[in-house]
Amino acid sequence: KMNKRSNTLQVKVGNISLGGQNKVVIQSMCNTKPRNIHETVNQIKILEKNGCEIIRVSIENENDALSLSKIKEQINIPLVADIHFDYKLALLAIENGADKIRINPGNIGKDEYVKLICDKCNEKHIPIRIGVNSGSLEKEFSEKYGSHSVKGMVESIKKYVKLLESFNFYNIVLSVKSSDIISTIEAYKELSNLFNYPLHIGITEAGDIFSSSIRSSAGLGILLYEGIGDTLRISITGDPLEEINAAKELLNSFNLYNNYVKVISCPTCGRTNYDMLPIVKEIKEFTSTVNKDLKVAIMGCIVNGPGEAKNADIGVAGGINEAILFKKGEIIRKIPQEDIVAILKEEILKL
Ligand code: SF4
Repeated sequence: KMNKRSNTLQVKVGNISLGGQNKVVIQSMCNTKPRNIHETVNQIKILEKNGCEIIRVSIENENDALSLSKIKEQINIPLVADIHFDYKLALLAIENGADKIRINPGNIGKDEYVKLICDKCNEKHIPIRIGVNSGSLEKEFSEKYGSHSVKGMVESIKKYVKLLESFNFYNIVLSVKSSDIISTIEAYKELSNLFNYPLHIGITEAGDIFSSSIRSSAGLGILLYEGIGDTLRISITGDPLEEINAAKELLNSFNLYNNYVKVISCPTCGRTNYDMLPIVKEIKEFTSTVNKDLKVAIMGCIVNGPGEAKNADIGVAGGINEAILFKKGEIIRKIPQEDIVAILKEEILKL
């Protein structure tokens, strides 16, 4: 079993601990406006139910900042405020209960404004994530090192960390995101050598669910394998629920996520004689809120299915318009096509 890197500092975000030997925390971001409180709470509740552990919202105006306290009353996971440019909005978000804030100190303007944010966060004991994106590097770094360069990202983080530390602020999380995977990997490796602060990892502008699943797994997989990353967000264009599902699957692949039903299915071939894809889809969806460590197999044929999926806790293998149910490779009984999903769900809950 893999272990998380042990030498990052611990940071508390609401009731969640990041860093140290804590598990890698899954987070996502709402695509609603916080001022639309009802809509935002509804989205967060769905994400929460599916395994989101920290949620972030973007603060565009005072109404958004003021809504945070009302949103917090109705949800159970820590709420992070994402702020660009306006330090006053940051202060207002903190006063209204934000559990953490994300800023890029480079676009807050004057250092004294950053100090006001740090003082307020120190007073409330909430962390700041310094989030640098390669596309929005400060001029001094993009001109010196190139606009999407690893060096530029790392140097700007170094400058901001120094700035926050100069205000006696150490409750810090770091991120350097780029849509270029190799740069992202290199930048995070560099950060993990330079700092003990916990790292929030992600690939930005990663695309739709297909592209992002591949790009994020490629980039974040390498980091996780090396023990880098204390919290992650998989950015996907579309429903944030997909981000949670992808994060769980990725972390589980590295033994970094438990209480997860892993669904395995064969690629199908000419031996498949039943309608398998809808079963996989329905069972995937169903199991995303079942918190058990189980392996469920959905296999195309009786000839190879039960044998190949011997280590699955439960599974089905297709015959002609029917399937057999098996547990640990042992055949239990036959099921007609129309009952496969219902019976499999029932059996999963029984285990
Ligand atoms: Fe083909 Fe059966 Fe293997 Fe699936 S389990 S790929 S249907 S041989």
